[in-house]
Amino acid sequence: MNAETYPTPAEGWTCFHCGTHFAGNFRGWQEALHHFGENVQGDAWCQYTARQVRAMEDQLRRFREEDTPRDRYLHKIQAEHAVAVRRAEEEGYARGLRDAAEQSAIERESQKPCFACDPPASGAAATGEAQ
Ligand SMILES: [Zn+2]
Repeated sequence: MNAETYPTPAEGWTCFHCGTHFAGNFRGWQEALHHFGENVQGDAWCQYTARQVRAMEDQLRRFREEDTPRDRYLHKIQAEHAVAVRRAEEEGYARGLRDAAEQSAIERESQKPCFACDPPASGAAATGEAQ
């Protein structure tokens, strides 16, 4: 809301709901702003019931406490995401352990002597005894 769009009338404003008059000066402009609000589609303050005001206060409290359906949904998907990330990390760790065990088995196997290249000695030749 700006003064060029809504110039202050010299005689001020009068609410057609409740008849409250607001002077055509800065103080009257401020009071009229509070009474009518900044949103031209909003209701004048005098049109709200105590029940509506309490409902708005309750809604504001829930927003501040992050206790709205939207907030609960966000917390739910954040928790599900955290669980999914932890499961993925655990699966990766398990895969790493499995791969390491397989690699160790391959290395142990490669350290065994090759019988084709180096056949085991047999009988007397192996012991070095003369025939
Ligand atoms: Zn009013």
